Amino acid sequence: MPENLSEQLTDTMPVSEAAAPAAQSDDDGVDIRFTDLNLDGRVLAALTDVGYEKPSPIQAATIPALLDGRDVVGLAQTGTGKTAAFAIPALSKMAELADVNGGPSKFTQVLVLAPTRELALQVADAFTSYAKHMDGFTVLPVYGGSPYGPQLQGLRRGAQVVVGTPGRVIDHIEKGSLDLSNLEYVVLDEADEMLRMGFADDVEKILSSTPDEKQVALFSATMPPAIRRIAKKYLNDPAEISVKGKPTTGTNPRQRYLQVMGPHKLDAMTRILEVEDFDGIIAFVRTKAATEDLADKLRSRGFSAAAINGDIPQQQRERTVEALRDGKIDILVATDVAARGLDVERISLVVNYDIPNDTESYVHRIGRTGRAGRSGDAILFMTPREKYLLRSIEKATRQPVEQMQLPSTAKINELRLAKFADKITKTLAGEDVALFRDLVATYEREHDVPAAEIAAALAVMAQNGQPILVQDIPVAPAGQRERSEGRKDAFGSRGPTRTLTEGNATYRIAVGRRQRVMPGSIVGAIANEGGISSAQIGGIDIRADHSLVELPADLSKDQLRALSRTRIGGELIHLELDKGRKPAGTRGSGDFKKPFKKDFQKRDGDSRFSGDANRKPRSAKGAGAGSGRSNAQSEQW
Ligand code: ADP
Ligand code: MG
Repeated sequence: MPENLSEQLTDTMPVSEAAAPAAQSDDDGVDIRFTDLNLDGRVLAALTDVGYEKPSPIQAATIPALLDGRDVVGLAQTGTGKTAAFAIPALSKMAELADVNGGPSKFTQVLVLAPTRELALQVADAFTSYAKHMDGFTVLPVYGGSPYGPQLQGLRRGAQVVVGTPGRVIDHIEKGSLDLSNLEYVVLDEADEMLRMGFADDVEKILSSTPDEKQVALFSATMPPAIRRIAKKYLNDPAEISVKGKPTTGTNPRQRYLQVMGPHKLDAMTRILEVEDFDGIIAFVRTKAATEDLADKLRSRGFSAAAINGDIPQQQRERTVEALRDGKIDILVATDVAARGLDVERISLVVNYDIPNDTESYVHRIGRTGRAGRSGDAILFMTPREKYLLRSIEKATRQPVEQMQLPSTAKINELRLAKFADKITKTLAGEDVALFRDLVATYEREHDVPAAEIAAALAVMAQNGQPILVQDIPVAPAGQRERSEGRKDAFGSRGPTRTLTEGNATYRIAVGRRQRVMPGSIVGAIANEGGISSAQIGGIDIRADHSLVELPADLSKDQLRALSRTRIGGELIHLELDKGRKPAGTRGSGDFKKPFKKDFQKRDGDSRFSGDANRKPRSAKGAGAGSGRSNAQSEQW
């Protein structure tokens, strides 16, 4: 790797573009194609199938080094295409090896370690798609919180590529089901996150049970000292490749979040539209149905909005985007998929009406504004319990997300009245009002009503049934307010809500402050061992010697069994339904048990965010306890 090339690459990655390596072709100044990289034809064909046009900067820099057989440390932020950076050369080499040996090896040749189940699955999916034209190649994900049976079967059948979470990989090594003696290539993906989740010891343990002669690649968004130490110990004279984003000033959108309960999002949105200076807007929602729904509602409130989603035919979508570009509409309501790659200079504001599924989507969303060097704004709606996601967003964008306040009722009303007056002035100046002046004069005479009264009636008519003044929006609907303002630690970082979401129940676990548990380690343990998406984990209330956790009421027997055996920091958590013991010192604690109307849309499925939420050391205890993580606990992985 010539130095000047990595230098050159270093400057070419604006943060707002980071989620879309493909979108860089115009301005990255690096002109390397996949066909220049000496890759196997089958891999190249697969890249064409998935639609990659050219390597992203981190790929262009690391693929040659890895093909050369060097160990590599690759540093680049989320969404820069790190997976393909290690998967493509690995597969290309294996394809060529298979040719030499007259067929693919039966042994596991590539092992990728990833911090969470979701990431392991993502990486496995990526490998599978790049290996599409390689006959006889199998990619197997192995992760905690799911039965051993299928994984054991898969391993017995043989998989050239195994992608796993550290704990589960160790389990398979110890069970003898994973044979690493023929390993050629090990990847530590998202190394900093693995460290953050307390996997340093596991990773080292795995690395030390691999053959000496192997290639190691370490990919990470950041390089904390502990990762540097691992790199130094286990990597052999690695090529260090770092692709930095542009300084995060200038073209990066300003990010704000607004805390708002689900039912009030629409009102919040309209208020923001009234006070914000905007040109074009794109509002992101989670589902296709929601795009139509929100666009309709905005139109009925007088905004020019249109929906785009994956169900709308391509041609019509293009027309809608054209209309936005031409200023015929101002607001585009879109799903993430429909807005991929959208490049409309006019978009000055991105509203995350529904929270995105992961940080990558978020980065991609806000990248729709601030195009062509213009500045942009991004606003994120979040319910109190979604607030814990802010950290991962700030990390991914390397920029703070400021809290914004909903424009006050008084401010909105003041603005509306001023606008109304303004409209009168403009109409008087611009339009020919002679006909209406006569009409009013006649009415005044015939009905003996003062002109001011008539004008007032006309104003009401002009409003067309819409009230001119807005009403207050409650911060939280009655009955859903936080019941214990001032209690800081209640429900920790999982949001302050002290009411149960419908379908949830309160469970009790036998670890609390005394065992020094953190919300992150509770979420991590329960999500992984119970096979529960961390989005399904509600409030967490850490008390002196136990904690209360809000979980789906209908946990299966298997989940309950697994969770009763789970350990956090070495301690069995003995998860059980909370038998109605009133949470001490809480007023109205009866409500704590009563299901409330769903006040926010639950995100389903696992996500990168969920992963992030877990990314805390799994044990808050001292190093001794942390490194001595029990077997039972490592089974979670
Ligand atoms: P990272 O691991 O750096 O966070 P990923 O490997 O998950 O990033 O890639 C982010 C996205 O970019 C994925 O959707 C991936 O399919 C896409 N991608 C990766 N490389 C390319 C490329 N060369 N061209 C187009 N898209 C790409
Ligand atoms: Mg990655």
